[in-house]
Amino acid sequence: MRQSQLFTKTRKEAPKDEVSKNAQLLIRAGFVHKEMAGVYSFLPLGLRVMNRISNIIREEMNLLGAQEVLLTVLQDKNIWVTAGKWDDKVVDNWFKTKLKNETEVGLGYSHEAELTNLLKDYVRSWRDLPLYIYQIQTKFRNESRAKSGIMRGREFLMKDMYSFSRTQEEHASFYEKAKAAYFNVYKRVGIGEQTYITSSSGGSFSKFSDEFQTVTDAGEDVIYVCEKCRQAINDEIFKEVSACPLCDNKDLMKKKAVEVGNIFNLGVNFSEPLDLSFADETSVKKSVIMGCYGIGIGRLMGTVVDVFADEKGIIWPKEIAPFDVHLTPIFDKEGKVKPAADALYADLVSKGISVLYDDRDIRPGEKFADSDLIGIPLRVIMSEKTMAENILEAIDRTTGEVKRVPVSDIERIIK
Ligand code: ATP
Ligand code: MG
Repeated sequence: MRQSQLFTKTRKEAPKDEVSKNAQLLIRAGFVHKEMAGVYSFLPLGLRVMNRISNIIREEMNLLGAQEVLLTVLQDKNIWVTAGKWDDKVVDNWFKTKLKNETEVGLGYSHEAELTNLLKDYVRSWRDLPLYIYQIQTKFRNESRAKSGIMRGREFLMKDMYSFSRTQEEHASFYEKAKAAYFNVYKRVGIGEQTYITSSSGGSFSKFSDEFQTVTDAGEDVIYVCEKCRQAINDEIFKEVSACPLCDNKDLMKKKAVEVGNIFNLGVNFSEPLDLSFADETSVKKSVIMGCYGIGIGRLMGTVVDVFADEKGIIWPKEIAPFDVHLTPIFDKEGKVKPAADALYADLVSKGISVLYDDRDIRPGEKFADSDLIGIPLRVIMSEKTMAENILEAIDRTTGEVKRVPVSDIERIIK
C-alpha cells in the first residue's frame, strides 16, 4: 500500500469527547473513525488488524473441529421469550425494533437461543452430536456506559462459539480444549503474558464462568492474581473465598484488568426450554448439554493498543500488525532515492511481504512521527546515505534499535 493513496491521514488530536487511550490513538493514527459513543467504523488500517485477529481466532477454532457459520442479526422475539431472556428486566441491553406489521424483533446481543432453535432441524440422535459451531459477527448491546473506546462498543465484532454435547464428560473434555485454544489465541495476538484465566460468577447465562482477563490500567474490572498458578479470581469470588482456587495461596495481587474472553458451561439452560434433545444409544430422549465461548475482537484490539503503546503511539505485535514493514525512505533533491525505493517496494511485495510504503513528499520528521503513531513493528529507511553504503536501516518500533542491514539481507531480516 502506497501511503499517498491511503485515504486516511494521521491527526494531531482525537475528538474532544474521546476519553479512552485506545480510541484516541486509533483515531489519531487513522485506524478507526468515531461515529458516536461506543460506535466506531473500521478504516483500512483498522480492518487489516481486525482481520488478522479474526483469522488467528478462526485457525484456533477450526483446529478444535468447530464449524463457522453466520447467523442473523435480526432475531425472533418468540425464541428469546421461550428461553426466558427477552424481558428487559432479565437482559438490560437489548436493542429492539419493530417490523412494519408491528412484530417485535431483537438485534442480536448474543446467539445461544437462536442457534439452539436452529439445531432442532438438524439434531435427532446421538449420531448427530457433538457439534461445535462459531461465528464472527457484529453484536449489538445498549451498554449504559461506553467510555472505553473500542473495548466497550454498542456495536462490536465478537467471535461466539457454542458447543453441543451428549454427556457431561464430553462437554468437560471440549471445555478444557477450548480453554487451551483461548490461551493460544492470546499468546499469538501478543498478550499471553498479561492474560489470566479468572474464575468468576457467570452473569446472565450460568452460575460460574471462566473469564480471560488481561491486566491493564484501562481495564474496567478488578481481579486477584495468583502468580504461582497464573490463575485469578474476580471481585465477586474474592468476597467469598479470597484465596487462589488452585493452591489456596492467600497472597493474591489486586490488578485492574479487561475481560478479553469468557467461557461458560450452559448446561441445559437453553436446550431444555427450547427443547433441543436427542435420542441416545438406547433411544432415551435427552437434552443437549451446551457451552458458550466468546471473544470480543474489537476489545482484544483495543487491549493490545492499551498494553503496548508508548508516548509516541501504537506498537503492534508482529502477528497482528497491519503490515509487516513500514518503508519510510528519505527522498533527496536530485531524485535518486525515489526510484530505488519504488524498486525496493515492488521487490518486497513480490516476495509476499506486506509493506506500507511512505512515498509522500514530506519532511522525514513527519514521516517518522506518523510511523511511530501507526506502530508497524519494523521500519525500513532508505536514503542517499544508505544507498552510498549499499545498506538499509531497520528500526525496531519497540526498542528504537537501529540495525544496518545489507540490501541483500533485508528479506531475511523482515521474515
Ligand atoms: P462485560 O462484563 O465486559 O460487559 P460480558 O460478560 O457482557 O462482558 P460476554 O457476554 O461474555 O461479555 O461476551 C463475550 C466477550 O465479548 C467478552 O468477553 C468481551 O471480550 C466481549 N464484549 C462484551 N461486551 C462487549 C462490548 N460492549 N464491546 C466490546 N466487546 C465486548
Ligand atoms: Mg456486558
